Amino acid sequence: MGLVVQKYGGSSVADAEGIKRVAKRIVEAKKNGHQVVVVVSAMGDTTDELIDLAEQVSPMPPGREMDMLLTAGERISMALLAMAIKNLGHEAQSFTGSQAGVITDSSHGKARIIDVTPGRIRTAVDEGNIAIVAGFQGVSQEKKDITTLGRGGSDTTAVALAAALDAEVCEIYTDVDGVFTADPRVVKKARKIDHIGYEDMLELASSGSKVLLHRCVEYARRYDIPIHVRSSFSGLQGTWVGRTQGNEAMEQALISGVAHDTSEAKITVVGVPDKPGEAAAIFRAIAGAEVNIDMVVQNVSAASTGLTDISFTLPKTEGRKAIDALEKLKATVAFESLRYDDQIAKISLVGAGMKTNPGVTATFFEALSRASVNIELISTSEIRISVVTRADDVNEAVRAVHSAFGLDSDSDEAVVYGGTGR
Ligand code: ADP
Ligand code: ASP
Ligand code: MG
Repeated sequence: MGLVVQKYGGSSVADAEGIKRVAKRIVEAKKNGHQVVVVVSAMGDTTDELIDLAEQVSPMPPGREMDMLLTAGERISMALLAMAIKNLGHEAQSFTGSQAGVITDSSHGKARIIDVTPGRIRTAVDEGNIAIVAGFQGVSQEKKDITTLGRGGSDTTAVALAAALDAEVCEIYTDVDGVFTADPRVVKKARKIDHIGYEDMLELASSGSKVLLHRCVEYARRYDIPIHVRSSFSGLQGTWVGRTQGNEAMEQALISGVAHDTSEAKITVVGVPDKPGEAAAIFRAIAGAEVNIDMVVQNVSAASTGLTDISFTLPKTEGRKAIDALEKLKATVAFESLRYDDQIAKISLVGAGMKTNPGVTATFFEALSRASVNIELISTSEIRISVVTRADDVNEAVRAVHSAFGLDSDSDEAVVYGGTGR
């Protein structure tokens, strides 16, 4: 039997009882003959609480210090988990991201993994230990500073270690029984998906299904690591994420699921002169501020004025930076004003089967219309349709779309075992 990487999210280790429960699960895997490497997140909502604390002492905390602060959350849980395992009579050692060999670039708060050199982890497991690694963190190659991988980054740590250690599987333990056709906190009739391909999972993740992080799925696809998403609170089989090609178990669904995201805001640049180069200047300024944008829409210009409006969405957390960059641009691009709206939601329908089914868009829009939900922006890819609506409409809209595509289950209601949904 080979090596398994198990990742436990914050809600699975929210308190001492949770840590002891998880410790038992880990020991079971070890007793079954596996070498076990565990990646652990900060307890409960610790990361959010640390961010709140930082904001109380400084409106713009420096990235380096912020990362130093946030990585403390995972250090607490890794040490407690190692203690709990030792208390059960098994050997365990905890390691920070840096000690585990997670090497990143220097981009604080959203560092990318450049390399993983897990020598110490390999030695620890070869000597019979269970290795516990702090998720979501690494060390920068250049400056040797402590970095974080962005919110939810422990998923990425787990897959990166699984790849570097040539693990059999990467198990992601969370507070629901797997990946569902919609967020079980919103749609009680959501269905658990048994198998899903990397492509559909990537779209769901990038559209807001935070059960798996986009970057972690990208990593898994690149190194062909099967991911098993399951609950740490139940013994049920979860969702297998993997390759679709040549995989008998993987039947391509028409629609995989509905995702929603309320973490974005919309900026509208009003009254932009409708001539070549203006949009380029706007998005160059946004890129210069290192802000990632999502959807972009330019209205048809009003012939009489020769002016147009450009809207785009971006993470709320980047709103201030983007507005500052655009204000500075006003000297060169003669737009009229800027509008910032953070009361929006994005709702996305994802499915590989969509490519060959022309009715999907119409059914999607009809469902929203029946629910009296107004559409503000639309974007599509080959296997996804997304719309922006008012944030207040999001739950209603997700449920309406889920029903319209026949995704509602008629048996068990989806169980949410823990977490606060924060
Ligand atoms: P963890 O603390 O284990 O990392 P997260 O809170 O990051 O857990 O992710 C699990 C949560 O993701 C679930 O509690 C659920 O509310 C949410 N979620 C959103 N979309 C989905 C989906 N399609 N399937 C399952 N869970 C989803
Ligand atoms: N603790 C970090 C967060 O809350 C990383 C993670 O949980 O994956 O974002
Ligand atoms: Mg998570």
